[in-house]
Amino acid sequence: MPYTTEDDAGNIVFLSAGIFAEIVDRLNDLTRTFDGADSAVIGVPAKTFSEEYLKILLNRMVSEAGVRLLFHTQVVAARREQNRLASVTLSNIDGLTDVRAKYYIDCTGDAVLTAASGFPTRLGRPGDALCQPMTLCFRVGGVDRETFRKNFPLMQEKYKALRAAGEITNPRENVLLFSTLLPSILHFNTTRVVKHNPVSADEVTAAEIEAREQVAEMLLFLRQHVPGCERAVLLSTAMEIGKRESRMIDGEYLLTQDDLLSFTHFPDGIAACNYDIDIHNPEGSGTSHHYFPKGKYYTIPYRCLIPKGADNLLTAGRCISSTHEAQASYRIMPTVTTLGQAAGTAAALALEDGCTVRDVDVPLLRSVLSDAGAFLG
Ligand SMILES: Cc1cc2nc3c(=O)[nH]c(=O)nc-3n(C[C@H](O)[C@H](O)[C@H](O)COP(=O)(O)OP(=O)(O)OC[C@H]3O[C@@H](n4cnc5c(N)ncnc54)[C@H](O)[C@@H]3O)c2cc1C
Repeated sequence: MPYTTEDDAGNIVFLSAGIFAEIVDRLNDLTRTFDGADSAVIGVPAKTFSEEYLKILLNRMVSEAGVRLLFHTQVVAARREQNRLASVTLSNIDGLTDVRAKYYIDCTGDAVLTAASGFPTRLGRPGDALCQPMTLCFRVGGVDRETFRKNFPLMQEKYKALRAAGEITNPRENVLLFSTLLPSILHFNTTRVVKHNPVSADEVTAAEIEAREQVAEMLLFLRQHVPGCERAVLLSTAMEIGKRESRMIDGEYLLTQDDLLSFTHFPDGIAACNYDIDIHNPEGSGTSHHYFPKGKYYTIPYRCLIPKGADNLLTAGRCISSTHEAQASYRIMPTVTTLGQAAGTAAALALEDGCTVRDVDVPLLRSVLSDAGAFLG
């Protein structure tokens, strides 16, 4: 998703930089190594990439940094002593293991660690607690791209007509898809499951089953009605249904839609964003957008990363402290990557000073992030 704006002189400004720019640069290098000198992550700014190459790159970057990784491991419980998180319990092939750390960062998307520690969280819109819909992405191969491109408007018309006739059950109003690095393969982000609680095991399971049926429906639709897709094959569905929004922390600051609409630049801003407020209707059909004017963006305060009252716990990613509407903007991959860099840097500074995460020297945090290439406005 977009992560740039323009200054008054028409120069491109990268709002997500720092470690995100390093990932994009190295992903470009790796893509060229594998696929030849002309290959690259596609788009200006770069947007379309191979997630398989990204997996290789991220393993390498994390290993270089000396991080010990544990795949296939879940945090299942936490032990708290007053405002400090004392230990977490991990579940994996080894069984259950308790791990102690001086600082913890909750990047679970669902604020699992924050909730398990008993710090306050919130879910969805005020009133009905509904979150944005879940979507199971899927890939289709064997597409004649040129024929498909020419018939794109026809596909949308046909889809809408079949929906109106009740022959398509997917509540999404149109077909949403993206290109991939390979011309014959399309990436569909078009299933939509509404009114399911993203932090209930039962409801997420039901949502994934419903979404898989929508994939089947879409595959038949493409083959039967869309020129260029007559020989389309289903290559893959995502490894799990995607949650746009779920449980978020109740933090030291709550980022709101008003903050975004007034392009607020916070004194403790640690990330910047101008992606539109992109709300897929939590109740059914329709998607609303509020776009930011050229040159305008907001920043995200460090306080949004701190669960209220926590001494040694930070969060990063889509579960930081904000309202439903504000989260609809900063939830994109470039921005959440910069939030991760900020949380990691803050934890390192807290460790150096032996202080709580609330007492981190924020001007120093911002200067360390700037020195590492981050854009803070
Ligand atoms: C369908 C869909 C399409 C999207 N399309 C785009 C797009 O085109 N471009 C874009 O920029 N953004 C897109 N987004 C938004 C973006 O992908 C996400 O908001 C972003 O990836 C969130 O990152 P995160 O790290 O906060 O959470 P996640 O990516 O959800 O990562 C959380 C991680 O924590 C792990 N985890 C969860 N619980 C535990 C536990 N108890 N113990 C251990 N690990 C745990 C999970 O397995 C996961 O790996 C899309 C989102 C969805 C749902």
